[in-house]
Amino acid sequence: MSSDARKTLSRRLLGVALLVAIVLDLLFSGAQIAYDLRQTRQAIERDGAQLLDMFRAASIQAAYRRDQPLALQVVEGLLGHPGVRQARIQDGNGAPLAVREHATPPAAQAWLSDPLFGHQQQFTLRLSGPPPRYEPYGELALTLDAAYRGGEFFATSRVILATALTRVLLLGLALLLLFRRQLTHPLSRLLEHLARIDPERPDHNPLPPLKGHERDELGRWADSINRLLATIARHNRQRREAEGHLKRLTQFDLLTGLPNRQLLQQQLGQILSDSARTQGRVAVLCLGLDDFNLINEKYGYQSGDRLLIGVAERLRALDPRLGSLARLGSDQFALVQIAVEQTYEAAELAQRVLDDLARPLFIDSQPISLRASLGITLYPEDGDNSERLLQRAEQTMTLAKQGARSHYQFFLASRDREIRRRRQLEDDLRQALHNGQLELYYQPQVAAADQRIVAVEALLRWRHPQLGFVPPDQFIPLAEQNGLILEIGDWVLEHACRQLHDWHAQGLVGLRMAVNLSTAQLRSDKLPRQVTGLLQRHGLPAHSLELEITETGLMTDVAAAAQQLHSLRLAKVLLAIDDFGTGYSSLSYLKTLPLDKIKIDRSFVRDLTRNEDDATLVRTIIQLAHNLNMTVIAEGVETAEQEAYLIAHGCQESQGYLHCRPLPALEVTRFMLNAARRQRSHGGAPAQFAAD
Ligand code: C2E
Ligand code: CA
Ligand code: CA
Repeated sequence: MSSDARKTLSRRLLGVALLVAIVLDLLFSGAQIAYDLRQTRQAIERDGAQLLDMFRAASIQAAYRRDQPLALQVVEGLLGHPGVRQARIQDGNGAPLAVREHATPPAAQAWLSDPLFGHQQQFTLRLSGPPPRYEPYGELALTLDAAYRGGEFFATSRVILATALTRVLLLGLALLLLFRRQLTHPLSRLLEHLARIDPERPDHNPLPPLKGHERDELGRWADSINRLLATIARHNRQRREAEGHLKRLTQFDLLTGLPNRQLLQQQLGQILSDSARTQGRVAVLCLGLDDFNLINEKYGYQSGDRLLIGVAERLRALDPRLGSLARLGSDQFALVQIAVEQTYEAAELAQRVLDDLARPLFIDSQPISLRASLGITLYPEDGDNSERLLQRAEQTMTLAKQGARSHYQFFLASRDREIRRRRQLEDDLRQALHNGQLELYYQPQVAAADQRIVAVEALLRWRHPQLGFVPPDQFIPLAEQNGLILEIGDWVLEHACRQLHDWHAQGLVGLRMAVNLSTAQLRSDKLPRQVTGLLQRHGLPAHSLELEITETGLMTDVAAAAQQLHSLRLAKVLLAIDDFGTGYSSLSYLKTLPLDKIKIDRSFVRDLTRNEDDATLVRTIIQLAHNLNMTVIAEGVETAEQEAYLIAHGCQESQGYLHCRPLPALEVTRFMLNAARRQRSHGGAPAQFAAD
C-alpha cells in the first residue's frame, strides 16, 4: 500500500471513528461486566446465607443433642454444594462436632476470580435455642470458594467482549465503505479533474457535477470552485487585454496605428533571419516627408496629424507583400520589402511611393500634395543586421533630402548610379520606339545538307543617341519588366514581316524569318490574330514565319503556353524553342507542345569541341529532337570544327559568326544574294531562291 493510500481521508476518519467506538464499547462493556461482578458477588452472599438457612434446623438439632453422626450428615450435605470448600459444626463450648473439607484443587481462573471475589468466604451461623431464651447450642460455619460462580461470570464477560469487538469491526467496515463512497471517491475525482485544468484557461474545463452531491457540501464546494475558476479566467482575460493594450502602446504608433521603431526592429530582425535561411534579399526604405513642418505651420498641427494618418493609409494600401511598415518618428516612415530579386524592384517601390504621395490628399477639402525623400538599403549587401540597415537607410534619406526634392537614393553610390542609369535607360527606351532609334539586324541560318541560307533571325538593335548601340541583353529585360516589350514586339513583328516580303519580292523565295517572342507577347491574347493578320497583310506564306520562344518562357506557365501554341499552330506558323538546354524542361511537357524546332543554346555550342559534357548534351538534344520529329538548329556556331561536329551528329541547321554576323537589312541582303549566286555557279543543288 502506498503512503498516499494510507493518507486517504476515509482511512483517517475511519481510524478516529474506530478509536472512539472501541473506547465507548469498552466503557459500556466494562460497566456491564462491573454490574455482572456485583451481581455475582451478591449471588455468592445469597448462596452462603441460603445454605446456612437450609441446614439451620438440622444443625441446631445436631448441636443441641451433640449428635455427631447428624452433624457429620449435615456437614457432608453442605459439601454436596459445588462451591462449599469446608463445613464445620461445633457445640456451645466450641468443640467441633463435625468438620469436612473438599480436597479439590483451586479453579483454573482462581488467579482472576480470587482478586475479584476474594479467595474464600466464611459464613457462620450461631445455633441457638427457641425464643425468648435463645440458649446458645453451638455454631455452623462454612467456607465458600467464589470460583464456582466465577466461571459463569467469565463466560458472560467473554460474550460481552466478543460482541463488542464484532460490533466495532462491523461498524468499521460500514464506515470505511461509507467514507469511501461519500468522501474519498468524489474528492479524488474532483482532485484528478482539478489537476487537468489548464491554468491559462481555467474556465474551459469546469468541475463536473457530482451525482448525489448536488446539494451537499461537496456539490457546493465544486460550484464554488467553478465560480472561482470563472473569475480567475475573467481576470486572466482582462490581464491579457491590458497587456495587449500596453503592448500596443509600447509597440505601435498611436496616431497612425503603424508599428513603431521598436516593433519594426523586431520584425526586421525576424525577416532578416528568415531571408538568411532562404538566401532572399530585403530592401529597407526609409521615407521622410519633405517640408512637413511648413505644412504644420500652414495648416495647423491637427491637420498635420490627419495628413500623417492619410500617408499611413496610402502606404498601407501600396503593397500587401510589404514585410513591414512602420512610423519611425514625426514625419518619417519605414518600409521593408521582402523577396527582392533585383535592385530595381526597390527603386520601383520607391517611385511608386513618391508617385502615390504626389496624388493630393484632401484636408478640409484642401488638396495637399506631398513630397518625400527615400533612403534605401539592401540586405545583405548594405548590412547584415536590422540596426545597421535602418541606420544607413535613415542616413541615406537625410542625404537624399539635401539633393533634389522628391527622390530616392540608394545607400551604395555605385548602386545608386546603376539604378539611376537604368531608370534613365527605361525613360529613353520609351522614346526610342517613336524616335526611330530601334532597328532590326538579321542573322542567316544555314542548312547543313547544302549550306544554303534557309532563314534569317531578326535581332533587335537600339541605337542610343548618346550611348551608341545598347545590346538587347540590356534593354530587352528592361522592356519586359516595364511592359514596353509588347509595343516593341509589335514593331519587330511588323518590320520583320515587311522585310521578308521585300526579300521574297527580290527573289529570295522560300526564305523564312525567325522572330524572337518574349513571354509577355506569348501570353497576349491577341497574338494569334495578330500573326494571321500580319501574314495576310504582307502576303507571306504561313510557314515562312518562325517564332522563337525561350525555353524558360515556355516553362513558367506550361499550360497557358501550350494553349497559345496550339492557337498559333492553327495559323500554320512554325514554332521553335530557343535557348534549349538552359531551362530544365520536362520532357513529358515537351512532347505535348506543338513545336517544330529545337534551338540548341550557344553556351553548349561554344565548348562543344573541348568539353565532353557539353558534347554529350548536344548529342542528346539532337537525338531528342529527332525522336520528337523536330528540326534541330545550333546557334552560336563560330568554328568549322563545331559545325562539322554538329553535322556529323545530325544537326540540320546552324547559325553563327562562322556563317555571318547579324547585319543590317541592306548588308544581309547583299550577303544572301552573293551566297545564292555562289551556290548557283558551283552548280550545286538547285538554288532555293533566285538572285534576280
Ligand atoms: P538569342 O535569341 O539567343 O539571339 C542570339 C544571340 O546570339 C544574338 O545576340 C546574336 O548576336 C548572338 N550570336 C549569333 N551568332 C553568334 C556567335 O557565333 N557567337 C556568339 N557569341 N554570339 C552569337 P543579340 O543580338 O545580342 O541578342 C541577344 C538576345 O536578345 C537574343 O538572344 C534574344 O533573346 C534577345 N532579342 C534580340 N532581339 C529580340 C527581339 O526582337 N525580341 C525579343 N523578344 N528578344 C530579342
Ligand atoms: Ca533567338
Ligand atoms: Ca538563343
